[in-house]
Amino acid sequence: MGSKNGRCGFQCELLKTGPFAILRWEKNQKHKEPFQMKHCSECGSRTLKKIPEGDNRERDTCESCGRIFYQSSKIVVVCIPEWQGRILLCRRAIEPRRGHWCLPGGYLETGETLEEGASREVYEETFASVENLKLFSKAELIHLNLVMFCFQGKMKNASFQAGQECLEVRLFEMSELLEMELAFNAHRFSLEAYAREPDSGGIHSFRIDQD
Ligand code: ZN
Repeated sequence: MGSKNGRCGFQCELLKTGPFAILRWEKNQKHKEPFQMKHCSECGSRTLKKIPEGDNRERDTCESCGRIFYQSSKIVVVCIPEWQGRILLCRRAIEPRRGHWCLPGGYLETGETLEEGASREVYEETFASVENLKLFSKAELIHLNLVMFCFQGKMKNASFQAGQECLEVRLFEMSELLEMELAFNAHRFSLEAYAREPDSGGIHSFRIDQD
């Protein structure tokens, strides 16, 4: 298993070779503390971290009503919208990374599939319509308790404009966007994989331990 420095200076370890390579990126940094709950949402009493009977890890537990609060990672869906070989990116109007370019995406809502979430986010942020969505990559952002699913999709036409959360929306040549500083590493890793092989037929997998 080889190891090399990525474009950003992160250590990139190739865990598995082949078309669906798994890359592990990390740099020594203390992980952020997970979400700390203080009060029970049911009765308002104080919560404590403790291991419930029959469990094997600490949970936020209400001292008064006994309710146990389980935390799970959140799901983010993004899309690589393509139009005649170019990729649609948005420049963020909101934090984090305001002013930086990124792929259209956001949190998955309840009651929708991953594909539905990805095309909804594309439309909300760029007013572009995408079709033929295919899952392209997944990134596990361990330090943020996030899992990101990235789709590739074809734009139905060249129509787009900036949504509320964007300052600007534009089509980029692949060579151009690979030279840019993007808002999120998870987006860049997916775009780099897409630039190498847009139709690999498999799903790229990234583990990210820090921003
Ligand atoms: Zn309670």
